Amino acid sequence: MNKCCTTQCSGTTDKKRIDDLQNPDKNNCTRERIVLISPYDLGRQPFALAEPAALFSQAGYEVKCLDLSQQKLTAEVLAPATAVFLYLSMLTATRIAIEAMPRIKKMAPQARIAVFGWYAPVNEKFLRELGVDAVFGGESESDMLNYTTSISEQDDHPARSETVVNLNRIDFLVPDRQSLPALEKYAQLVLPDGSKRIMGFTETTRGCKHICRHCPVVPVYQGRFFAVPANIVLEDIRQQVVKGAQHISFGDPDFLNGPRHARRIIEVMHEEFPLLTYDAVIKIEHIIKYPDYLPFLRDSGCILVTTAAESVDDKTLEFLDKGHTAAEFEQVVSLMSEHNIALAPTFIPFTPWTTINNYIELLDKIAELELIMCVNPVQLSLRLLIPSGSRILELPKEETCITDFNPASLGYKWVHRVTEVDALQENIRHWTEKAETDGLSRLEIFNGIRHIALKAAGRNAVDVTENHCGITVPTHSESWYCCAEPTEQQLASF
Ligand code: SF4
Repeated sequence: MNKCCTTQCSGTTDKKRIDDLQNPDKNNCTRERIVLISPYDLGRQPFALAEPAALFSQAGYEVKCLDLSQQKLTAEVLAPATAVFLYLSMLTATRIAIEAMPRIKKMAPQARIAVFGWYAPVNEKFLRELGVDAVFGGESESDMLNYTTSISEQDDHPARSETVVNLNRIDFLVPDRQSLPALEKYAQLVLPDGSKRIMGFTETTRGCKHICRHCPVVPVYQGRFFAVPANIVLEDIRQQVVKGAQHISFGDPDFLNGPRHARRIIEVMHEEFPLLTYDAVIKIEHIIKYPDYLPFLRDSGCILVTTAAESVDDKTLEFLDKGHTAAEFEQVVSLMSEHNIALAPTFIPFTPWTTINNYIELLDKIAELELIMCVNPVQLSLRLLIPSGSRILELPKEETCITDFNPASLGYKWVHRVTEVDALQENIRHWTEKAETDGLSRLEIFNGIRHIALKAAGRNAVDVTENHCGITVPTHSESWYCCAEPTEQQLASF
C-alpha cells in the first residue's frame, strides 16, 4: 500500500493542494479513502465509528474518522474521499450533520454521502433531499462496506435508493480507534469529591428487546438486540485501558438486555482490571427482575447506573409503554441505595399528559426520595420528542396533541391542550439554562424550578432544604441530553 497522499501535499497552493487531494492517483495513492464522521455522541469516543473503521481498514481502504465534537472538517481529510459516512445516533447529531452537509459536499465534491444510525432510516426522505446517496440502519457495517465496494467498482453506480435496515447478526471486529482523538479529550467521569477519571466507552449489545413508545431505537430495531461478542468487547476495553481509561461507560441501550452476556464480560474485565470502575444504563424493569445482579455489579466496580424513570405518573408511564410503575421506580431507588450503587434517574417531565399538579408531584417525589443531587437539572425541563417512526404516533391524535411534522426539528410538533403547561415548560427551560450558566447549585436550581411551578399553580413555595438533597453521585462531565436541540456553539464548532 502506498503512503497516504496528505503527507505529500504540504507546501502547495490551496487550489493545487485541493486538486491533488481530489486526484490521489497523481500522488501515487492507490488506497481509496473512506471518511467516517460522528457529529456528536454525548462527549464519548464513538464506538459506532471505530467498529466500521476496523472493517473498512481490513478491506484495504484508508479510513479517516472525524469527530465533530472535537475536530473540524478539513479538505485534507475530505477531498480525497470516495465515500463519507455520517453517524446519526440522535437528534442533536442529526441536526449538526444537516448543518455540516453543505460544507462536506463542498470539500468532498466527488464523494458519495451516506448516513447510518438510529436517526438515519426514519429521516430518509429529508436526508435524501439534502443529497444523501445511501441510508443504513441496524447492524449496518457489512452493508456499508458492500455499498462502498459497488461505488468503488463503478463510478456511475446509481444512488442506493432503498434504505437498508439490517437486523441480522454481523461479524464484529475489534474497533479501530486509532484515528479518533485521544480519550482524555472526551468527557470524563467526575467523582463526588471533584476528582476526574478518564473514561472509555464501549457497547456489549446494540438495539433493545423492549419497545417503549417514545424510544428512537424501536423504529429501527423493532424489539431486537444483538450481542457484541465478549472477546471483542474485552479487547476493546483492554485497548482503551492501555490508552489511559480508568473508567468504562457502557453505552448499550440497556445493559441487562442480555444479563448473562453482561456478566461474562464484567467477570473477566474485573479480574484483569480490578481498579477499573464502570457505569451502565439499566431499565427499572430489569433492576427489579434481576436483584441478584446488584451485589455483583457493585463488587465488580459499577459505581453508577442511569435509569430512564421518565415519570412518576402511572398514566403517563402507560402511554409511554415503559414497563414499570411509579411504585417500582421507588423500589429501585431503595434497592440501589441498599446496594450502594449511585442512581441517576432520567425524566421526560413535559408530555401531552403532564398537568401543572403532576409536575409539582414529580418535584415533590424527587425531594422526598432525596434525589435532588442525582437528577441533572436539565432533565426537569425536557419535553417529549416525537421523531418519525415513533410508536407515539400509534396513539389516538386527541391523546398526543400532535399537530404536524416539523422538518426543521425533525420531529412531530405537539401543543399541550392547556397553554399554561407549555408556558411552564418554556419558563423552566429558560430558568434552568440561566441558572446552570450562573453556576447555581443543584439545590438552588431545584428550588428555583419549584418556585416557578408552584407559582403557576397559584401556590406559595417554601424552599426544600439540604436534607432532601441525598448523596452527590458520580457524573459524566458532558451533561448534554441526547435528544436536545444543539446549541449555537455546537452548530458552529466544526
Ligand atoms: S428500554 Fe430503553 S432503549 Fe429499550 S426501548 Fe425502552 S427506552 Fe428504548
